[in-house]
Amino acid sequence: MKKMTVSLCAAVTVAAGGVLADSIGDIGNVRLKGGLGKRLDAVIANHVAAQDVDYITAPFLEKTETKGWWQTEFWGKWMHAAVPFLAYTHDAALRGKIERGCERILASQEDGGYIGNYPDALRCGEGWDVWGMKYTLMGLLHDYDWRRQCEGGEITRLASNVSRPQTSADILAACRRLCDYVIAEIGPNGRRGRELWQTGNWSGYASSSILEPVVWLYRRVAERDGADAARKYLDFASFIVKGMAEPEKGPRLLDLALKGVSVADRNEADYDGNAGWAYVCKHGRAKAYEMMSCYQGLLEYYEIMSAAPRLSSHVSSPVPPADILRAAVMTGEDIVKEEINLAGGCACSEAWFHGARKQHLAYRRLQETCVTTTWMRFCEKLLEITDQPKWADEIEKTFYNAYLAAMKPDGSEFAGYTPLSGSRFHGQHHCFMHTDCCTANGPRGFLCFLRAFFTTRGDAATFNFYSSALVKGELSDGRKVAFDMYSLYPRTDSARIVSHTEGAGVVPLRLRIPAWSAKTVVKLNGKALDGVAAGRYFTIARAWKLGDIVEVEFDLPVVAHTLAHHVAFTRGPVLLARDSRFNDGDMTEPFRPGIKDGERMPSFAAVRAPSDDMWMAFSATLPVGSHHENPEGGLPATVFFCDYASAGNEWRRDNFYRTWFPVEFGPAE
Ligand SMILES: [Zn+2]
Repeated sequence: MKKMTVSLCAAVTVAAGGVLADSIGDIGNVRLKGGLGKRLDAVIANHVAAQDVDYITAPFLEKTETKGWWQTEFWGKWMHAAVPFLAYTHDAALRGKIERGCERILASQEDGGYIGNYPDALRCGEGWDVWGMKYTLMGLLHDYDWRRQCEGGEITRLASNVSRPQTSADILAACRRLCDYVIAEIGPNGRRGRELWQTGNWSGYASSSILEPVVWLYRRVAERDGADAARKYLDFASFIVKGMAEPEKGPRLLDLALKGVSVADRNEADYDGNAGWAYVCKHGRAKAYEMMSCYQGLLEYYEIMSAAPRLSSHVSSPVPPADILRAAVMTGEDIVKEEINLAGGCACSEAWFHGARKQHLAYRRLQETCVTTTWMRFCEKLLEITDQPKWADEIEKTFYNAYLAAMKPDGSEFAGYTPLSGSRFHGQHHCFMHTDCCTANGPRGFLCFLRAFFTTRGDAATFNFYSSALVKGELSDGRKVAFDMYSLYPRTDSARIVSHTEGAGVVPLRLRIPAWSAKTVVKLNGKALDGVAAGRYFTIARAWKLGDIVEVEFDLPVVAHTLAHHVAFTRGPVLLARDSRFNDGDMTEPFRPGIKDGERMPSFAAVRAPSDDMWMAFSATLPVGSHHENPEGGLPATVFFCDYASAGNEWRRDNFYRTWFPVEFGPAE
């Protein structure tokens, strides 16, 4: 991308011992190269840095909302991606837009602390007002983190379109006033006479998800001004958690999860969800994006309540913190089992629906990009807390399929929904604006991949993903490590990691071995190592020297999947699709029976893709066609496949694709 580099701040090391990791994290420590790096550069340049910040902040100044809509979510979502991507690019124009947006948001804040566009009578009620304040709080806290890191010289050199420089203290004060407003209105004994979970939709999911930035606020106030000043926000967080757990008609994010009730089955027994969108409205509990957003906040709260006593000694959790983690993990595992399809996507019309077992059928509005992005965020948090690589497996699968499929090749836009078979199409225009929830959410998804790519938590360095990239990092004791990875994975089956670490003593380097790679080979300086196991981290502890080489060879067969007389194919984490650009016959033609679930398919072979915007392509000779009688009819046919993310990526109706193929029935079936 075109870059105007400014001196931002030398390091992105995080204040307060990693406490603020969520907003920026180690993003500046990874530099993606190759094809994936180009896609990231494109989404930053054509989507995030191209945003008209006056347009998405105008609703806050105009305050014309009457319909209870969500115009106020767009700026906060943008900031959630823009600030970390500023740390990645150091782009001066993006920096100027962040400054200007914050200036306008602060100018819109009322004396009572409110930031939003609702008239007083509609505030903190039905609709999306609290949801909007959640995203505004997230956006402002990202700005706070960035300013706090840069203070000490840089902050005075503001972009020319900003009239009045703010300090991080000003930003944090604005955050506190906004949260104080919410507490005064719908906190304990609030002015509105209702509790937070009773506002908004889906039994309180949307509003309750404000928990996440409330915990972020608590951490920052505690770190800056001390525990006493912060106490109010932890009390409020506990109040929200109580509302999430206890009221019978509330979100019930703990008891239903701990009883093992699947996410699609958590609605009230008498709940009538038959009409139109009613099945996800008001009292339903199957709305995927908002439910996962609540668990995101609960996991933040869990971290606080299970952390050092200095943070939490003055407040007791309304529920045992261990139950919070267990409920979140059980919910994540249930989503993997019941909802996630071969593309790592989920949800029909934004709701849970036991989609894994129905993925061969044409369900409506599949894989909302908000759901895809939030699922990756949920997995990222579970990976961070549990250190179980299975959550990285899930991020990888979703990223290479559902996520990249939703992104337009030039990065400028994200689809609203992405079918498993069909064609790609543009998102929507929401709330009379030229944007929508999904395209606003899209860039945040790339962050999940980028942040988890290479980590240096504790005393180990960890690669969770494989792609050409330069990485560096600092262990908890300050020792520095750096590596250069070359890999065309998952198009090819290997990765080569060269050490640029020298003189750091013994450092364990952990490599995530994907669960689907049954026989992975890891070599150090040409010598194969023992003990590599699928679905685990493999650790090489060594005094690394400049030029040490680690090679990873994955086991990447094409595997068949069968479901209710349909068949689909994956290769490693990648779902394969037939695409109309191959012009190789009727995609609805059935397969003859006989392919077994889990069967390896040796007839697939890599071929050169017919166009540059197709990432990978394969030929396959398969039993396609329903004519058994004549010799030529019974012969296998050769057809072509590409990766699901590339399928249909011309975003035209006549560029269509298919992933699940029908299999013939016999007379007795
Ligand atoms: Zn959406």
